[in-house]
Amino acid sequence: MTGLLGIGVDKLRQILNHGRRGAPREVCGLLSGRDGWVTRVYPLRNLEKDPNRFFASPTGQYRAFQDIEQRGETLVGIYHSHPGGEAVPSPRDVEMAYYPDIAYLILALGREPTVRAFRIREGKVWPGRLVVAMPGGEVRECMEFVFGPEGGPR
Ligand SMILES: [Zn+2]
Repeated sequence: MTGLLGIGVDKLRQILNHGRRGAPREVCGLLSGRDGWVTRVYPLRNLEKDPNRFFASPTGQYRAFQDIEQRGETLVGIYHSHPGGEAVPSPRDVEMAYYPDIAYLILALGREPTVRAFRIREGKVWPGRLVVAMPGGEVRECMEFVFGPEGGPR
C-alpha cells in the first residue's frame, strides 16, 4: 500500500452517515486497523458546545482504545467532520493533532461530501493519498474521495 490509509467504501459511508446525523455540529471518531488498513470505525460523542469544534468524549475514547487493544490492532486514524467547511485541517485541528503517525481524515459535508487524509506532524500538514477498497474488490488510490448521491463513489 502506497497511500496514507487504506479504507473500504463501507467504512467511508459509516463516517458519512455519522457526519450527516451530527450536522450542523462536527462529529469525530477513531479508526483502528492493521498494516495501514481501517478495520473498524469508532464514532465518538462530541462534547464540544461550539458547533465548529470537537472534543471527543474521554469515556468513549477510553472504551475504544480498550477494544482496539483487545483486538490486537492499533489506532490508524482519527476522523472528524466540517459540516460547512472544506476538507482541510483548521489551525486548531493542527494544534490539537497529537499523533504524528496516524492519518487525520476530514469529511466536508455539502452537495458533494468529500473525504481527505492528512498527516500532521509538529505543526506541519501533509496531504496523503487514500487507498479505497471498492465493493467489487477494485482498489482506487485518490487524493480525495467524493461521495455520489447513493453514498458510494461518485
Ligand atoms: Zn476541523
